[in-house]
Amino acid sequence: MRYPKIRELGEAVVSLVSPAYTTKYPKKEHVPFENFRGKPVVDDDNCVGCETCANVCPPMAITFEDDREKGIRTIRRDYGKCIFCGQCEEHCITQKGVKLSDKIFDMSSFDRNDNVEYQEKELLICKNCGAIITTKEHYMFMHKKLGPKAYSNIMNLNMLNEKLRLASEDNTEVALSEDLRRRDAFNILCPNCLRELQLKTHGR
Ligand code: SF4
Ligand code: SF4
Repeated sequence: MRYPKIRELGEAVVSLVSPAYTTKYPKKEHVPFENFRGKPVVDDDNCVGCETCANVCPPMAITFEDDREKGIRTIRRDYGKCIFCGQCEEHCITQKGVKLSDKIFDMSSFDRNDNVEYQEKELLICKNCGAIITTKEHYMFMHKKLGPKAYSNIMNLNMLNEKLRLASEDNTEVALSEDLRRRDAFNILCPNCLRELQLKTHGR
């Protein structure tokens, strides 16, 4: 028979007289410890719908669906799949779109849908080929990042005009005609159509 070591005996005595590490939740209120990683909480005003968090989420708890007809991107966040790793918060491009709560820990429910949240964002679609470029909010966020350089691109300027209501939609868009003529540059185009336009313009 092996006898317990002195260190183990000491630990047993200390734990006998120490308060319990666990709490009697839900009978008593539970206060999570510092830096606890709880439910990710989205701040819709600071989320631009860029898809970055979906790309880094290990259990794929965040998914995106684009509806070209309605021009809407739907973001679905299923916290029933969340492992509270904090990757979405760490990689959020605005640094404010999502933060893990240090208080919300009780998410148990009989209905899985209770832990699913949705957001909707307006899409920015190429006026020529219909390709989805990104969301309008994401585009505007990049404007801010670029600062005065954003004004060097006429298409960027168009977005700003619409946003700031400096020009009506009639003035910021013109009808697309064949061959992507130069004047059509005033429309919002995807990178492919833009390249095509530049090639054709320079080729003339
Ligand atoms: S905390 Fe981790 S698992 Fe949960 S939504 Fe964010 S990235 Fe996904
Ligand atoms: S990374 Fe941030 S801004 Fe982009 S969709 Fe996720 S929460 Fe929103």
